[in-house]
Amino acid sequence: MKRIVESYRRRLATEEGWTLKRGADLCVALCYPNTYEVGMANLGFQAMYELFNRIPEVSCERVFLPDDLEMREYEKSRAPLLSLESQTPVRDFDVLAFSVSFETDYLNMARVLRMSGVPLWSERRTAHDPLVVMGGAASTLNPEPVADFTDVIAVGEGEILAPKLIDLIFEHRDSKEELLLALARVGRGFYVPAFYDVTYNEDGTIESYTPNVSGAPLKVGRAVAAENPKEGSLRRAMRRGETDVANRLRGMDVFAPSSSIWAPEAEMGERFLVEISRGCSQGCRFCWAGYNYWPPRVVPARNILEKAAAWRGRTDKIGLVSTAVCDHPEIGEILQGLRQMDYRISVSSLRLDQISDELLDALVDSGDNQIAVAPETGSDRLRKVINKNLTNDEIVDICGRIFDRGMLTVKLYMMAGLPTEEEEDLQAMVDLVERIKDRMIKAGKRFGRVGKIIPALNGFVPKPNTPFQWEPICEEKELKRRLKWLSKAMSRLPNTEVRIMSARIAHEQALLSLGDRTAAKFIETAERLNGDLRQAMRETGFDHELHTARRRSYAEVLPWEIIDSGMTREFLQQEHERAQIAKSSAPCPSVDQCTRCGVCPTTWLAAAPSGLIQLQSAASI
Ligand code: SF4
Repeated sequence: MKRIVESYRRRLATEEGWTLKRGADLCVALCYPNTYEVGMANLGFQAMYELFNRIPEVSCERVFLPDDLEMREYEKSRAPLLSLESQTPVRDFDVLAFSVSFETDYLNMARVLRMSGVPLWSERRTAHDPLVVMGGAASTLNPEPVADFTDVIAVGEGEILAPKLIDLIFEHRDSKEELLLALARVGRGFYVPAFYDVTYNEDGTIESYTPNVSGAPLKVGRAVAAENPKEGSLRRAMRRGETDVANRLRGMDVFAPSSSIWAPEAEMGERFLVEISRGCSQGCRFCWAGYNYWPPRVVPARNILEKAAAWRGRTDKIGLVSTAVCDHPEIGEILQGLRQMDYRISVSSLRLDQISDELLDALVDSGDNQIAVAPETGSDRLRKVINKNLTNDEIVDICGRIFDRGMLTVKLYMMAGLPTEEEEDLQAMVDLVERIKDRMIKAGKRFGRVGKIIPALNGFVPKPNTPFQWEPICEEKELKRRLKWLSKAMSRLPNTEVRIMSARIAHEQALLSLGDRTAAKFIETAERLNGDLRQAMRETGFDHELHTARRRSYAEVLPWEIIDSGMTREFLQQEHERAQIAKSSAPCPSVDQCTRCGVCPTTWLAAAPSGLIQLQSAASI
């Protein structure tokens, strides 16, 4: 154990900005179920750490899955899992809060519980065990595979839920049962799985979810952080020119997630990361992040630049985190302000249809020589099916604008196994990569050098709460054949380097994102078998095909529908039907009074004020 403590203290010594509050009334162990390097690059995790530690009575410490070296020390010493800041056993904390972004970390969640000596199954915990909370993107995606491991699931955005959770914990310190009832009866944002009985049909599909305590909602609504346009206090004050009111409102605790700890050993550790907007209006039908953060919202440029200025002394590198960077109406002001601070700018992802010259110039000036874009597939027909409204000609033109600035290496995110995909669509992907490569070569002549085209091929995985939630994943052997064929054909192209995700990984991801509560036993076994999912399936008889390999009927109760994202089933079904006939749809307009997908009418009623402003209203800043 001594070596583990030493390793943790050495790591703390490399950091700046961490907090340790001895003697706090409530101690929270915040766990990212993956290694330190991965966890510390996650803004959601850093945001929760900052949020919890902002509360005077609360001490929040970090917990990660040990890396290989640490894991060997833990196995040798049989020590219980420790927190980073004070090296305290995790089981001694009042709350163990998981921040889970990816369903593929569900096995690690089980491992952390086992290594902490905290019973894995919620029903086997006592009042002496920490309250186990799960939050993060995965909690809104589909928490059902790990629902039986969790006492309460925070559904939605942490800015809203963290203070509320802490308030209720203090109100019900003496009784876990009372606390769970109070959380469930909030009606939105807190899902207590133990308060729902799940019944199954003979074929293994779900028959129903039934609350077994009074006051628990039939479905648990998602909590959204946004300034309520209907109230529109900020906007009205701006319109009336009441700058003092506006500044007070503007100054109102605008909580925009950003790096809170300087952690040079983490992935992207040399970079200051800041979220500039949340959600993307496009509505690509496979994209979970797109649909589940509607309506799109932005952080005012002023707040982003203030944070960047505060961190400029530590680093000259900044990462703008957003799924739609150029949708921000103040992107020009943001880029200008950051360039004036001599920041080297990088972006988390770039939507092809909105790459501005200004942003490209900023990226080139920052010395970035590679950019990642997502054409997704190679045929205009299939792109209509997935509702990515760009033609091959437009994609080649956009890549041309990138190459003409001397950025000659482009990573292309592409998928195989999409719904309605045909052989000619695969050939079209190869043709598109070749056209982009030729365009790069042409531009390279001006610079006397060539770059690389990097197709990153993934298997399409249907995701909950998207129009493709009813779709099966492409059969594993067939998906493998398609990926292999694509990889071979593209590797024949000069200056092209193919990266490929295996069909097996895609299938493993599918069963963790589409499973129901029966997956818990399978996850427990797979964790015990060090991640051998195949053997775990054999041992538990977990019927993964039921969850991943068949088209679901519109009448079927879906496991993740216990969570109400605000988006209506009718809207998702309509989008699914439009996909079948390759009909595209307009983006989310993000305007007042819109009822199209159902999110605004339901979500606004419960929105709690924070600094994030609805995209449309931002236009008037
Ligand atoms: S209701 Fe309209 S504005 Fe609101 S998220 Fe849905 S499509 Fe966008």
